[in-house]
Amino acid sequence: MSLVIVGSVAFDTIETPFGRRERIVGGSGTYCSLAASYFTRPRVVGVVGRDFPRSAIAFLKSRHVDLHGLKVRPGKTFHWEGRYEKDPNLRTTVRTELNVFKDFRPEVPAAYAGADIVYLANIDPDGHEFILRQFRKPRLLAMDTIRFWIETKREALRRELGRIDLLFANDEEARLLSGEQNLIAAGQALVGYGPRLVILKKGEHGALVFGRSFVFGVLAHPCPHVIDPTGAGDAFAGGFLGYLDRAGSLVRRNIRRAAVYGSVLASFAIEDFGIDRFCTLDAAAVEGRFREFRRLMSF
Ligand code: AMP
Repeated sequence: MSLVIVGSVAFDTIETPFGRRERIVGGSGTYCSLAASYFTRPRVVGVVGRDFPRSAIAFLKSRHVDLHGLKVRPGKTFHWEGRYEKDPNLRTTVRTELNVFKDFRPEVPAAYAGADIVYLANIDPDGHEFILRQFRKPRLLAMDTIRFWIETKREALRRELGRIDLLFANDEEARLLSGEQNLIAAGQALVGYGPRLVILKKGEHGALVFGRSFVFGVLAHPCPHVIDPTGAGDAFAGGFLGYLDRAGSLVRRNIRRAAVYGSVLASFAIEDFGIDRFCTLDAAAVEGRFREFRRLMSF
């Protein structure tokens, strides 16, 4: 199997009750690929400016992330700034400087065209068609979205729900997109738009997986100190899709395990600023936490 992630590779400026970091490496494609790298060799399609540090590229490569689809363009790298309140679910976007990401028309390397799993992370829904034409026939097409696209391109997003297999959304996005306040009703309504699976991420409360005829819940790892929540959703998607890519089949047992691995990788991402936790995280720690989840969730 093979997994292609189309997403942002970015500089982030982040303020949380634990401190502030300026222009550290982030982006949905970065978090997602790092999380997936514990299971597979993820391929990234994205763009950075000439100011993006070589050391970050070298780090991603050292984690077996395939960067043939990452273009370096003249100009500045995408820069996002966010601030979190004491409640880590409350986030304010202070600024978004698209820079080279603005006119990003992702070119998919020919070697990626046969991908089994394609993940579109926070991409403008009107750009999906251009990207998807470059793939042959992925077995699993997954996407995530953000409030910005729901508010500005709701109809395009709903149309895209008709062609994807899997949607990741947080609770706020699910409510906005479906128009349902109750999360179960929201999950069911979103499945009704087309995707075979809808994963509702509920931050510190874990996630719910909705299929046409089943629902599965996974807890979040009990974490007393959320240092920096940035990237938790992307790390969840990376753990989930990376595991599925390795497992090779989309049977329900694998989907359940994928959801637990998603929660495991998200739980590590928030333990330090930016991608710092991934610098020291090894596969043994990932497996150790997976076993902890098994104890936590069994009765
Ligand atoms: P998450 O915390 O999982 O929602 O993802 C946070 C990451 O998304 C940050 O590292 C940002 O660089 C990136 N991000 C924020 N806004 C956008 C956007 N409009 N398009 C693409 N990526 C973004």
